[in-house]
This record gives sequence, structure tokens and C-alpha cells, in this order.
Amino acid sequence: MNEIVFLGLFAATAIYVGLPFLKNQSQNITATEVPGKLYELESDKENVISTLKEMEFDYQMGKISTTDFDDLNQNYRRKAAQIIQSIEEMKNHTSDNDIEAEIRRYRQTPNRRFCINCGTARQQEDKFCSNCGASL
Ligand SMILES: [Zn+2]
Repeated sequence: MNEIVFLGLFAATAIYVGLPFLKNQSQNITATEVPGKLYELESDKENVISTLKEMEFDYQMGKISTTDFDDLNQNYRRKAAQIIQSIEEMKNHTSDNDIEAEIRRYRQTPNRRFCINCGTARQQEDKFCSNCGASL
């Protein structure tokens, strides 16, 4: 009985952890998730590029045959190109999202007020101006 519960939990955890990776990553991303994903992509890029460098070194040392090297080299370069493309797409995606989010935030705060001292926009609940520190 315990084993069944454990297996059920294990399966649930696996699905929970695995699902985000199965989704189409560049389409279903919210603005807050982007920095993490970008970081992942940047480190993937670093990895691929350092693998490429190691491969070229091994090839020059005669550890890899020309045919193998050509294949590997082509694969890794394609991979690097894909990662770089994803990074670019994500950066574009981010800026669009940020603007949308900013507009939405602005519309959602009809009670938006401004600092009497410097004119900086403030939230109704703010006690001090975030820009000049004047008490509101
Ligand atoms: Zn102010």
C-alpha cells in the first residue's frame, strides 16, 4: 500500500517537474520567467561554444577523424545557432511583454497620483515619494 502511494507521489512529482520543459518554451513564457530562461540559454550557449573549442583542439591533436569532426562541428554549430536565435526571440518577447505589462499596470491604477514636490507617479498607499522622499 505504501509503495503505491509512494509511486503515485513520485509520478505526480515527475509530471510537475517535467511538464514545464515539455511546453513550447518560447511561446508560453511570462515576463517574470524570462530572466531565468535567458540565463539557462546563455549558459547552454557557453557550454556549446566551449564544447566546440574542445572539439577543435582534439581535432588539431589528431584525436578526432576529419569525418567525425565535420559531423560534430556541424551539429554543434547548428545547436549554437538555435540557442542564439532563441535568446534573440526571448529578448524581443521580453520587451513586448514589458510594454504590455506596463500599460496594463497603468490602466489598473485609476487612482494613480503624483508627488506634489517632483511630479513622480505614486501609489495611493505610499507615504513617501519614491523619487524625492517628500512625505505625501
Ligand atoms: Zn517626489
